[in-house]
Amino acid sequence: MSKPYLKPLALAVSLALSLAACGKQEPAAAPPAPAPTASSAPAPAPAPAATTATAAADAGKSIFDVSELDPKINACQDFNGFVNDKWVAANPIPADQTSWGAFNKLAEDSLNTQHTIVEAAAKNAATAKPGSIEQQIGYLYQSGMNDAAIEKAGFDPIKPKLAEIDGLKNSAGIVDFLDKSYAEGDGMVFGFGSGADFHDATKQIGYAMEGGLGLPTKDYYTKPEYKSLRDAYVAYIARTLELTGVSAADAKTQAAAVMKFETALAAASLAPTEMRNLDNQYHFVSVAAADKVTPNFSWQKFFKTQGVTIDKGFSLSQPKFFAEFNKLLTSAPVSEWQAYLRFHTIDDASSALSENFRANKFDFYGKTLAGQPQQKPRWKQVLSAVNGAMGMGLGELYVAKVFTPEAKQRAEELVTNVRDALKNRIENLDWMSAATKAKAIEKWNKFLPKIGYPDKGEWRDWSGLNITPDNYYANLQAAAKFNYDYDIAHIGKPTDRKEWGMTPQTVNAYYDPSTNTINFPAAILQPPFFDAKADDAINYGGIGAVIGHESSHGFDDQGSQFDGDGNKVNWWTKQDKQQFDARTAKLVQQFDAYTPIKDKPDLHVNGKLTLGENIADLGGLNIAYDALQTAMKKDPAEASEKIGGYTEDQRFFLNWARVWRGSMREKTAILRLNVDPHSPMALRAMGAPSNMPAFASAFQCKAGDAMVRPADKQVKIW
Ligand SMILES: [Zn+2]
Repeated sequence: MSKPYLKPLALAVSLALSLAACGKQEPAAAPPAPAPTASSAPAPAPAPAATTATAAADAGKSIFDVSELDPKINACQDFNGFVNDKWVAANPIPADQTSWGAFNKLAEDSLNTQHTIVEAAAKNAATAKPGSIEQQIGYLYQSGMNDAAIEKAGFDPIKPKLAEIDGLKNSAGIVDFLDKSYAEGDGMVFGFGSGADFHDATKQIGYAMEGGLGLPTKDYYTKPEYKSLRDAYVAYIARTLELTGVSAADAKTQAAAVMKFETALAAASLAPTEMRNLDNQYHFVSVAAADKVTPNFSWQKFFKTQGVTIDKGFSLSQPKFFAEFNKLLTSAPVSEWQAYLRFHTIDDASSALSENFRANKFDFYGKTLAGQPQQKPRWKQVLSAVNGAMGMGLGELYVAKVFTPEAKQRAEELVTNVRDALKNRIENLDWMSAATKAKAIEKWNKFLPKIGYPDKGEWRDWSGLNITPDNYYANLQAAAKFNYDYDIAHIGKPTDRKEWGMTPQTVNAYYDPSTNTINFPAAILQPPFFDAKADDAINYGGIGAVIGHESSHGFDDQGSQFDGDGNKVNWWTKQDKQQFDARTAKLVQQFDAYTPIKDKPDLHVNGKLTLGENIADLGGLNIAYDALQTAMKKDPAEASEKIGGYTEDQRFFLNWARVWRGSMREKTAILRLNVDPHSPMALRAMGAPSNMPAFASAFQCKAGDAMVRPADKQVKIW
């Protein structure tokens, strides 16, 4: 039931992954997961040493607690260890988490604030203005916390749908069922949503994207190393079916059928690395042409049922996948389809059903796949659902409480300074011709930075969404349909650059190439990223580098294929493109060589999958460093002073590394190597600095040190 709460961002790239705790792959057209469900602890942790201002005595400037640094570790050999090892050792991962670090702590703060908001809204809901966001959120949260009602209902809410599936007789009936499910906001098998046209970004079109798998990627269905996970998944499918009264023997047969069905879908699906190729994300066809790819599935009828008018066509993004889907409509027995639809109907609804369903789902997706020992407390589960259903509505209440106009203004200044530094770097690149530079500057000129939250008057309108005080499942279902309708209503309309793809309470940031916007939600504008009381070095090493990171996404392996108006056009000379590719190839090699998981020397970072993020980290840190030097010129006295015993350049890199502090459960770490386009945190702390001469001189590192890449391997792109 977790369906689009925002406009899907097929292309947008974020600072860090907000992987849903269940680790389940969402259809590619679905939006980023709601507010970091992969974060938060059972009880508020004591005030972290990391944010206390112990060195405040130094010139009245705050810095993090320098006693956290480990002098026994050589910063030139293991910079992450030097900055973060002590903290990581002192801050074990809480039992209901898959990872724990700077991001998680901030996300936890955000969750606690949201918790106060929803509790108050629930308390006042009955007397709040009818239909107001406060009332809707209050009722939604209240209904989710009503354990007695949810336990009593068991799986009653999905019985009508299961009965429909039982009654399916042939492929025409299956198609009707799918059409109707999508229209209710309950799409299965493939993803469908709106997005900017690659070739005319001013316009929104429909995107049909591959999906439908219960395991994280196609490899999990075939590779020998995932055999035990496959077995566990099949056992989970059987248990899930049994919870609705299917006999053990039947459940076993049906689970095998689901596995067979998904293995066929997986074989026709693309690997995450293949998905980075933009040609695999866009395939514009007329409705008639699409109907030829899937003669058993009429797109004309599908769009009619969805209430969507298609003008010239839409993107049937992965034709090979849809051809397989078409084939399965007649080649797979009806009983196999029924098993697949039955299982996914239950699985999708599990978080809204009684505890036995929730515990069952957690056992596979939380424990087995991600290594999380314990479920999150109920209030966090419900809050996560509120974020999924009405995230932007909750955001409106959140910013009213936490975000000040002063913070917004200070962040805007930082954005301006970092942007100026990027322009300067582009103009001074030694490997790019004047012609390509002019185009890059043209794109730079068209960046639209968005800070904190939508401007007044640009918040979403929630009227028309009917939320009641006592029916959690019906509420989530209503929200799923409301959000799906909201999304597909964009099709055929102009693209709105001011619309947000992330809620203000999300600790993250993103770049969207189709609107050429860089976006910084309110929740990330806090320490360690941003601290109004800290000196410039700290802020440029934190939020400054984040701003640089998002800006650099405009020029990463994917972003560089779009112009300033968001259209996919080539603005590069052939020679400059070759130069760019040669430089990015070196970065691929750098990250391919890393083996981040202790005692698993065979598991490497995927340099191609993480290329866009690594380009953004490297560019972002360089840009932020330049911006800091400019800021320091205005205040030479501050530039020369040490705070907490560290120079301004050192503080800059220290805070960059501090942002990426944290640890992860081994199963989650393995999962992320396969699905996450971001490199592991410790390597983000070190990968970019090891390419920067400024780092080596800040810490007086020498050639041959691990943190100083040899001259011929050092990468400089932006
Ligand atoms: Zn990024």
